[in-house]
Amino acid sequence: MDTTDVYDYVITGAGTAGCVLAARLTEDPQVTVLLLEAGRGDRHPFIHVPAGFAKLTGSKYDWGHTSVPQKHCHDRIIPLAQGKVLGGGGSINAQVFTRGAHEDYDEWAAKFGCDGWSYEEIKKYFLRAECNERLSAPHHGTDGPIGVSDLVNPHPLSKAWVQAGQEYGLPYNSDFNGDSQFGVGYYQTTTKNGRRCSAAVGYLGPARGRPNLTIKTRVTAARIVLDGTRATGVEYLEGGIRKIAKTTREVLVTSGAYGSPKLLQLSGIGNGNDLTAAGVPVRHELAGVGRNLHDHCDLDIIYELREYQSMDRLNQIRPGTAKAGLEYLAFRKGPLASTIVEGGAFSFGKAKESIPDLQFHFLPAAGVEQGIAAMRPGYGATLNSYFVRPQSRGSVRLASADPTVHPLVDPNFLATDFDVEASIEGVKQSREIMSQPSMAKHIKAEHLAGGKALRTKDDYVDFVRSHGRTSYHPVGTCAMGTDRNAVVGPDLKVHGLEGLRVADSSVMPRLVSSNTQFPTIMIAEKAADMITGG
Ligand SMILES: Cc1cc2nc3c(=O)[nH]c(=O)nc-3n(C[C@H](O)[C@H](O)[C@H](O)COP(=O)(O)OP(=O)(O)OC[C@H]3O[C@@H](n4cnc5c(N)ncnc54)[C@H](O)[C@@H]3O)c2cc1C
Repeated sequence: MDTTDVYDYVITGAGTAGCVLAARLTEDPQVTVLLLEAGRGDRHPFIHVPAGFAKLTGSKYDWGHTSVPQKHCHDRIIPLAQGKVLGGGGSINAQVFTRGAHEDYDEWAAKFGCDGWSYEEIKKYFLRAECNERLSAPHHGTDGPIGVSDLVNPHPLSKAWVQAGQEYGLPYNSDFNGDSQFGVGYYQTTTKNGRRCSAAVGYLGPARGRPNLTIKTRVTAARIVLDGTRATGVEYLEGGIRKIAKTTREVLVTSGAYGSPKLLQLSGIGNGNDLTAAGVPVRHELAGVGRNLHDHCDLDIIYELREYQSMDRLNQIRPGTAKAGLEYLAFRKGPLASTIVEGGAFSFGKAKESIPDLQFHFLPAAGVEQGIAAMRPGYGATLNSYFVRPQSRGSVRLASADPTVHPLVDPNFLATDFDVEASIEGVKQSREIMSQPSMAKHIKAEHLAGGKALRTKDDYVDFVRSHGRTSYHPVGTCAMGTDRNAVVGPDLKVHGLEGLRVADSSVMPRLVSSNTQFPTIMIAEKAADMITGG
């Protein structure tokens, strides 16, 4: 064991939340911070060119997690991409800017005992983070570290899709983060001047030169060091050597919804049975660690196109590819400036609630993400849907006491009949939107993965169980709240311990009704305020 450096705060994971916290805490020059990240730096151009998203799932910047066989999905093992790079998920994600429904946060406060987290109370953190190029008060910020932009030049197919959504009956919505998510339109994106704006870019970028901030990449946090009930440091692996960083104030766990419960469990903090099964001595029994995992279960349909060349051509070497590269380099415009996930919608499905329960993403391309079929020969487009408030709950458990071994991740997709019905409704609405005149004229054929026609209820049930996949929004595994399954309190301190907080997507007690990056940024912003007494 090598020795020991001392910092005021050690942060375990330089993903979305970790970068926000490191930047905010080191604004005070008296405070020292060590930021530990298992992945590499974020210099690769595919990370920064918005369309580079198509190259990142399944790459060396992805942890390569897979699920355990999914009991309710024909025992399939499903890839679960998560960012392993400075910026975490924010460096490999689709850059869709959504914040969820106001009611999501009101529910955290009212139902889960998360005092201080109602929408009116957390809204200022959303606004503080945001630098929106078009929208402003009351719903948007214009001075924050994260750039939010309109699509530079929506693809003609995306325009047709947004019109098809209106023909289907959805109102046009020019701001999914305003009064209501309901409707169809174009997603705004977390980009600035035609480049990805992750928390590593927007927050950490300006902080990187500070003498009070030490950043280490390619190091693995292996264990939280406990002295009785107080966290006093972090043991980590650097080049195969175990080292310890001590803290004078707090350890801040920001390793994501799979990594944060894993780190607590490696430290002996968690469900006693789970720890014993993995050979880890129990230091602090906390039943909810690694439980309550939930994620949006995504269903994709691919469409073969008639005349249009969709963005698939960027994956094929042609003269047009070089032209796109030059256009991007010269003007930050053209197809490479697109985040590809361009069209969006929120609609009402099965749930009898006052807010939408289905979300859609339209991509004028096929084969963009790992595991999604490409269209060859020919060109394709993709429409995916998911039910935004799933009932199914899974878990993250240690496979081994070795910190370098991936945990057992069980999203337990489609474990309830309700989730199955709601997912089917999303697929049905997808097909109806695509059959509207503005879109139908571009479609040569619908390609359902597996190739079976969808006619009967059984066909649909089989389709969603055969093809449901992650939408990359795992949360809930270190849930905030006050009941016996809660892991952290509303102050994000781990129940029963001192000097230890979790402050990332894992603390969401219930998944928000949208993508999860900005909600995670909000959590980290509020955490920084609570830590500094701001
Ligand atoms: C492919 C993909 C597409 C997505 N698309 C969107 C989108 O379009 N819009 C949106 O809003 N959200 C999207 N998301 C979700 C969003 O990116 C995440 O919700 C968000 O990044 C979660 O932030 P986090 O800080 O909780 O975790 P992460 O950002 O995952 O950060 C955790 C960090 O901790 C590091 N880490 C883990 N374990 C250790 C360890 N033991 N030691 C050291 N470091 C460790 C990881 O490498 C990672 O960098 C997407 C995510 C993915 C993966």
